[in-house]
Amino acid sequence: MKPSQFTTVIFCLTLILIATGCTDQKETSPKEAPIETASEQTTPTTTQDTITLSGQNLTIHFLDVGQGDSILLEIDGKSMLIDSGESDQGKVVTAYLQDQGISTLDYVVATHPHSDHIGGMNEILNNFQVEHFVDSGYPHTSKTYENMLTTIDQKSIPFQVAQAGQKIDFDPAVDIEVLNPAKTYSEDLNENSVVLKVTYGTTSFLLMGDAGLETEERIMKAGYNVDSDILKVGHHASRSGSGTSFISAVSPKVSVIEVGAGNDYGHPHAEILEKLQKASKVYRTDLDGTITVTTDGSTYTVTTEKTGTISSRNEAYTSTDSTTEESETPGSAKLTVYVSDLNLQDEWVRISNTGSSPVSLNGWKIEDEGNKHTYTFQPYTLNAGSTVTVFTGKGINSATEFYWQLDNPVWNNDGDAAYLYDNSGKLISKLES
Ligand SMILES: [Zn+2]
Ligand SMILES: [Zn+2]
Repeated sequence: MKPSQFTTVIFCLTLILIATGCTDQKETSPKEAPIETASEQTTPTTTQDTITLSGQNLTIHFLDVGQGDSILLEIDGKSMLIDSGESDQGKVVTAYLQDQGISTLDYVVATHPHSDHIGGMNEILNNFQVEHFVDSGYPHTSKTYENMLTTIDQKSIPFQVAQAGQKIDFDPAVDIEVLNPAKTYSEDLNENSVVLKVTYGTTSFLLMGDAGLETEERIMKAGYNVDSDILKVGHHASRSGSGTSFISAVSPKVSVIEVGAGNDYGHPHAEILEKLQKASKVYRTDLDGTITVTTDGSTYTVTTEKTGTISSRNEAYTSTDSTTEESETPGSAKLTVYVSDLNLQDEWVRISNTGSSPVSLNGWKIEDEGNKHTYTFQPYTLNAGSTVTVFTGKGINSATEFYWQLDNPVWNNDGDAAYLYDNSGKLISKLES
């Protein structure tokens, strides 16, 4: 490499800290300005706009990289990688991207220089063509960070520093707004995380990096619209983040925690986890494996690697394939039998078998959120292509309609979820309504 270029990058980063900014960043492919400033002011844009949906699905993968973060966005053949896990996860992320058929990454974002976020970056930079690199711009003296900058420099990858108020020009149908870092950096690396709000149609994602309370407060004070359907919880759900007022402002329906099993940090923190569980359905990479959310801009579907759990906010629900085969047990039919409909007002839940063979539901159970009520199937076979409906009240069972025989309602009209367990107690499917 040319040491002078490397020095320039470092110099720029340092300069940003002490002065207003390095306007002439080591830049940029001439064809486009990849990050555009929303307006001359840093006033947040809170309007939901007139983006035309492309008819494509936006898929966001929260990769299981143990203790660390890695998130992949895909739409219409374009891809963006946010973080890459620890260095030993570089291979894992690389393999995952290759499985998706990716050879070029349109954007790579490093939320902040901690090794559980950028450790795998060198592997990524060496294995993929990277069109744009976005960094928090807050310098760090670690070897990992320096090596990453060196590789970016050697490969002449266009490098930009994210700042609140910018937009990332990833895909015309997807609005990506930078909410953090602010013009003035925090002294805490985590609080300088690149925070992104991703909006596609009416579905929105808030990706917090390792940001905590300080950033949450600043973002809210700045007037950003943080309300989002899916929240990537800040800092592995440690106690340093997810403040009560912030969580109620975000009002997530789904929270995703990227966390390693048995990690040394006690993540997720029990109180934070409980708070998130009260507010939303929580998915965790340590329990669920890689978590995938797919949206067409109006509805979204959550799929997980380990449990095959599927939930959807929309009643017009379609089954989705699991992202891996490894948890398939022969004959379990876990993805062909699922909760297909839940009617809170009229008090019934419907199970469908979209597979090609009949499935015995003997001993299978339906439960509500919080497992307050349990319905257990007697010997019964659900034929291929058939449905069975379970009504809460009293009545006489028929071939396709069963009655729970209860006096009181089971389903909470303000929102509830139906869980379907097989006869070994394994969660087969879940539907939120
Ligand atoms: Zn972290
Ligand atoms: Zn961190």
